[in-house]
Amino acid sequence: MRIIDRQQEFTTASRAKAGVQPRTLEVFDDFGVIDRMLKAGTQRLPFRRLLLDQVISEVVPYEDKEPRPDAPYRRMLYVRQNDVEQILRDPLGESGCEVERGTTLTGFTQTDASVVAKLEGPAGTEEVEVEYMVGCDGGASFVRKRLGIKFQGATDESQKMYVGDVEVEGLPDDAWYQWYDLQRGLLLLCPLSGSREWQIQASASPGPDGVFPPPSLEALQAAVDRVSGMDIKLSNPTWLSVTKKNVRMADSLRSGRVLIAGDAAHVHPFAGALGANTGVQDAYNLGWKLARVIRDGADQSLLYTFQEERLPIAEWTLRTSLSSADKIAQAVIGGTGGAEKGLTEETNQLGLNYRDSSLSWNRAAGAGEASGVRAGDRAPDSPLPDGTRLFDVFRGPHTTLLGLGADCREAVAHVQSAAVTGLRTLEIAERPETYGYTEDTLVLVRPDGYVGLVAAGDDGAAVLAYLDFLQTPQAPQTGRAAVAAGEEVSTP
Ligand SMILES: Cc1cc2nc3c(=O)[nH]c(=O)nc-3n(C[C@H](O)[C@H](O)[C@H](O)COP(=O)(O)OP(=O)(O)OC[C@H]3O[C@@H](n4cnc5c(N)ncnc54)[C@H](O)[C@@H]3O)c2cc1C
Repeated sequence: MRIIDRQQEFTTASRAKAGVQPRTLEVFDDFGVIDRMLKAGTQRLPFRRLLLDQVISEVVPYEDKEPRPDAPYRRMLYVRQNDVEQILRDPLGESGCEVERGTTLTGFTQTDASVVAKLEGPAGTEEVEVEYMVGCDGGASFVRKRLGIKFQGATDESQKMYVGDVEVEGLPDDAWYQWYDLQRGLLLLCPLSGSREWQIQASASPGPDGVFPPPSLEALQAAVDRVSGMDIKLSNPTWLSVTKKNVRMADSLRSGRVLIAGDAAHVHPFAGALGANTGVQDAYNLGWKLARVIRDGADQSLLYTFQEERLPIAEWTLRTSLSSADKIAQAVIGGTGGAEKGLTEETNQLGLNYRDSSLSWNRAAGAGEASGVRAGDRAPDSPLPDGTRLFDVFRGPHTTLLGLGADCREAVAHVQSAAVTGLRTLEIAERPETYGYTEDTLVLVRPDGYVGLVAAGDDGAAVLAYLDFLQTPQAPQTGRAAVAAGEEVSTP
């Protein structure tokens, strides 16, 4: 596997500092990096709303969200995105895969057998032949454009916001300071854990010619002076940028052997803090499927389920971030709150599911009805009798078969006798409350922590049939079918 990035140096921009949603924290737990993540940020950040120099309210989002047996992380983590990226790169490096900097994808072609990518790097031009390629190359995705995948939606050029990382003098770093002044503009100043820097977001004002000046320390200082009226001094900018409202999503996540994920597939307002979180989960959904196809010989139709499962989530993300932005706007107009109104039970992403996926099989009598975890749901955590947790059992790239209830013993043994590779089994004599079953039940948990199969406690055959299906799924073939048609897709 090769991962390239055209940046010469990894960015230090704080970007998605607010922050990592509970579901993504579960993913980081699965990767074994949760302790480092939690240490790098904070889960308690007061949102302090002001009008000029007067504090009008203060709330701590998710303050009442204590960990539950089914969900150990229920609060957002405020942490710099560049720190998150570094913490993820470290174990990747340890496993022998370094992100190659200063290396740009400049073109690619594909056939029904492979993709040939053209790279410009420190050692010059190189052509690399790979089985699959994934474009995680951001909102302006070169890969998406070259595949001709439409990025449907709208871009609003009339309102822009300056963003950046700066040092701030004149405020204690104990809260996220937020001004929503309908006359003077928007100003957000957020201290960044573990550094002297703050992230600033400020509405930009066009000049007399109607053109927005480029972001600069002077423009940001002018916004701070205008909106806060306080003696706050900015200095030492390490990142300055400008953003506009962009609400768009790809109409396909795949063309032949090339896939796209993250901002390359969906962009939307920051409200609700969903962008990077959704990108992480795109990759989490795709990673195990690619491994199964490339390493374990599963049919490539398994990859069709990436789009089947993630395109509806992209739609949800656009809808939810717009709804969060509306909630914030209404609160600001009504004087009842600010950014915290965009953070809801939905935005923590614990409730997202793949119930309609062809990979979600409900095979137990009554499964799919009211009670209990269903196929396609996120597999909940639970404390185990030996003091560990289910998430400890799920951690890693394997599939897990849970036998929930004493009557599952024979069926679990039957599955074990088939010696399926990459399958871990666990029998729990007493059904965990967090699964909500009234009968003994077999639950197959995918490597990305979603339930693939729910079957009766004695139905080991259903488990083996499901595992067989993963090797040759008959998933609906959505996405551009260049490969299926045997057509060569060339890109200049
Ligand atoms: C101010 C701000 C606040 C935000 N707040 C939040 C938040 O609270 N929560 C949240 O979830 N999200 C938030 N976001 C959004 C989040 O930052 C993005 O969703 C996230 O960075 C997208 O990650 P990505 O990897 O898909 O794309 P990017 O981060 O854009 O990364 C794409 C990478 O691809 C590389 N690249 C591009 N083209 C090529 C090429 N041809 N060859 C090689 N490399 C290439 C680029 O160098 C870049 O490193 C925020 C963003 C901003 C700006």
